[in-house]
Amino acid sequence: MGPHVLAFLPALALGAFWVGGETLLLLVALGVPFAFSLVGGFNFTSAVQSALGQPDLTDAHGAVAMTSYALEQARAASLATACIQVDIDGIKALESRFGETTTQSARDLMLARLRTLLRKDDLAVRIGDARFMVLLGPALRLDLEALLQIANRLQSSLEEPASIEGTTQYMSAAIGFCSSVRLADTATGEDLFAAASAALTEALANGPSAIRAWTDSIRVARSARLSLRSEAARALENGQIQPWYQPQLCTSTGRVSGAEALVRWIHPERGVIAPRQFLETLEDDGRMQRLGEVVLGNALTALRAWDRAGIELPRVSVNFSMSELRNPKLVESLKWELDRHDLKPQRLGVEVLETVIAETTDGIIVRNVAALAKLGCHIDLDDFGIGHASITSLRRFAIKRLKIDRSFVTRVDRNEDQRRMIAAILGMADRLGLETLAEGVESVGEHALLAQLGCDHVQGFGIARPMPADQLATWITAHNSRVADTPRLDRRSS
Ligand code: C2E
Ligand code: MG
Ligand code: MG
Repeated sequence: MGPHVLAFLPALALGAFWVGGETLLLLVALGVPFAFSLVGGFNFTSAVQSALGQPDLTDAHGAVAMTSYALEQARAASLATACIQVDIDGIKALESRFGETTTQSARDLMLARLRTLLRKDDLAVRIGDARFMVLLGPALRLDLEALLQIANRLQSSLEEPASIEGTTQYMSAAIGFCSSVRLADTATGEDLFAAASAALTEALANGPSAIRAWTDSIRVARSARLSLRSEAARALENGQIQPWYQPQLCTSTGRVSGAEALVRWIHPERGVIAPRQFLETLEDDGRMQRLGEVVLGNALTALRAWDRAGIELPRVSVNFSMSELRNPKLVESLKWELDRHDLKPQRLGVEVLETVIAETTDGIIVRNVAALAKLGCHIDLDDFGIGHASITSLRRFAIKRLKIDRSFVTRVDRNEDQRRMIAAILGMADRLGLETLAEGVESVGEHALLAQLGCDHVQGFGIARPMPADQLATWITAHNSRVADTPRLDRRSS
């Protein structure tokens, strides 16, 4: 019995409605699929398997072919299908911690979790390093509510703690989906696949654990994103792209020890746009150097203004990308900017990604970072723990402080493995004479434990989110006066 038999379903349902009203319609709606399953009916997964094969992993081409097949089968039976795409945040971090074989087992585990939850008519396959696709077998009712329920179930299962090499790992799943009923009758499998991908992109832009359905507003947002590209260069020149600042606290004194400049695009119609939505565009257009100039200029101007207003902020840090660090004029222009603002190099922090340091064999980057350190700038190693920097390179680049990646900090107060990992990093930093800062501190519990373990500085949403320069001034004044009013023990003496 092939799927074409299902094409009779609507006629059967209509007949049932004429003859017996709603009750009989309901019986038919529930009973026919059940009857099919009893007689060994249609199985979409095995149909795909025999038509296309169902490997654990497929490329984009294979994924579109599977989606087209699902759509054809559903249409032939006048039923619906849906494409659900999932992106797992945390798999990349596993690779640097445990290596490829373990990462592959984690991917297999995620695929197995998906398959356990799905019906036998559905199909799940991996379509990228951390990306999976689910195609639902032909069904009568795949509306928004039903799909949201399925997506929620999949997400809860994927986000269950995973036991990996004797440690407990927490991963987040972002999900985007589109039902065939949301698209025009003329839509192709490629359209359905692209719509689910766009919904996933939208979910990812809203956090690592978001779920989004394909809607018309996503279609509009998608074309808007494409137009952002042409607008970005102009925005960089007209002041719409500028840094916000996130404070960092010293765990010994509780006072503000610095602030990180994090770029934002304040778009007149679309509001505040996060860097992940436009940095790649600027990178592709060769504008990272210009971005660096804009952020540095703004940060030094703000620091000067805070100084004048009597705000206590020892240092402001900026992020430098690989292309900025390759600029042969970097040190010279930075020196000039510091002079122009009448600020000492010690007031400026430079954040360099651990991946840049680990991967670079580029002499100009080593020379630039070493020259910035020699000048007196404070060099931070950003996202430490996921990039394989060697101890030799920490020395070669004159690193002052390790910024411990958020993946190690999350739930450090509740998870023994996380605590051990942080303790090991802090011990190593101490022996190498490096300062430490924990990134992504989201709760009071994490903050307290990090202070107890001897981490020198903390930064994260649990303390404050990035904010415009004028708001930071108000925040620092309020924070420092709160600290002054609170009697505290020095953590090193406790
Ligand atoms: P990063 O330098 O590692 O910055 C930390 C990111 O984590 C920031 O995201 C910050 O808003 C976010 N964050 C801070 N605390 C928390 C927390 O408690 N929980 C969570 N979940 N996130 C937290 P943002 O601002 O979106 O920046 C993302 C990345 O973009 C930065 O990562 C940095 O690599 C890059 N970036 C930002 N501004 C610039 C810039 O001016 N130049 C360059 N080259 N890159 C930049
Ligand atoms: Mg940073
Ligand atoms: Mg970071």
